[in-house]
Amino acid sequence: MKNILVINAGSSSLKYQLIDIDTETVIAKGLCERIGIDGSMLTYKPSNGDKVEIQKDMPNHEVAIKMVLDILTDAKVGVIKDMSEIAAVGHRMVHGGEKFSGSVIINDDVIEAMKECIPLGPLHNPANLMGIAGCQAALPNTPMVGVFDTAWGQGMEPSHFMYALPYELYKQYGVRRYGFHGTSHKYVTGRALKLLGNPNAKVITCHLGNGSSISCSVAGKCVDTSMGLTPLEGLPMGTRCGSIDPAIIPYLMKRMNITAAEMDAIMNKKSGMLGISGVSSDFRDLGAAAAEGNERAQLALDMFVYAVKKYIGAYAAAMGGVDAIVFTAGVGENDRAVREKVLSNMEFLGVIPDVEFNRNGPRGEEICISKPESKVKVFVIPTDEEMAIARDTAELAC
Ligand code: ADP
Repeated sequence: MKNILVINAGSSSLKYQLIDIDTETVIAKGLCERIGIDGSMLTYKPSNGDKVEIQKDMPNHEVAIKMVLDILTDAKVGVIKDMSEIAAVGHRMVHGGEKFSGSVIINDDVIEAMKECIPLGPLHNPANLMGIAGCQAALPNTPMVGVFDTAWGQGMEPSHFMYALPYELYKQYGVRRYGFHGTSHKYVTGRALKLLGNPNAKVITCHLGNGSSISCSVAGKCVDTSMGLTPLEGLPMGTRCGSIDPAIIPYLMKRMNITAAEMDAIMNKKSGMLGISGVSSDFRDLGAAAAEGNERAQLALDMFVYAVKKYIGAYAAAMGGVDAIVFTAGVGENDRAVREKVLSNMEFLGVIPDVEFNRNGPRGEEICISKPESKVKVFVIPTDEEMAIARDTAELAC
């Protein structure tokens, strides 16, 4: 049994999973919340036991990771005898800039490179680094691997990733499209290529969750992706505005007399589905409100569907066709109404949805929701970023 510990460290939270990579099963998983804030809490769920919640001060990530390791090896509720049963640790890394086009063994050079990318990922990268430091302190001899959200987007050609700003701004400040959710796009694309039985297929992947992005690829190499320098670009999301006329930003900053940070907060936290509907960022709430006649909730949903459709059309054109469309993540996997609306009127593109099966098919498994005669296959594929990280980690470190 080879166990991989997967760590996804945010600024005040840390998600973890212990995965037996030989059988690809999750042995235990959980979450540390409110790290460095009052009321820290660890949740832990072994696959063969009940959920455990522990409230205890976690002043930093190092303490949080120590608590995770303590509970994994606990005599009563633990799932391993000691830390030597962890073969390697895989870290989710958010912004690798142009330095990483694939997963890497973490060493001092990698840590240095991650630090250099902090201006690009000012919230996420320091958290990722704290997660790594915490693990290194507790597991000094265990190999660690970094799996980057931005690695997938490194497949793009310059004409697809550049913004038409002065070229020097790309050279000096790294202003370009990087894309995010790369681990998920790569994972579901790999599954789609397998399901199609065609390693060279043209695939559009719709990762629709609280944060949403769409990507397209030929033969598993990213051609384009909707998020940009930051995760703000592209689709309207739970609370993010997605793409807007960039001139709106200085216009509103002047009219409202607000700072860049305040403008940033409006675009990232108060916009999107929440900002339009005034109801919620959650698609379940929006669906319920729209069904009761809430026009702004309906407007938010309509805007989202329209944006997804536009990306599918644009990416089909960019690739000169499309063989499969994939829906994944919270909304993509669960919101049948959104999928139905996105797929309506797409016969011109060769998409013939199986409307009934889309409405009634099972959840939580890979399904095909297009009719057999549909030229373009449409799949729902549950994403599994942790498993993807564990696989890369095992491949590099074990
Ligand atoms: P994150 O981007 O935070 O990883 P997820 O991919 O887990 O998000 O997606 C979370 C979102 O998925 C929720 O905010 C909600 O809008 C949506 N969602 C989850 N379950 C359902 C459901 N049964 N029906 C519709 N939407 C759902």
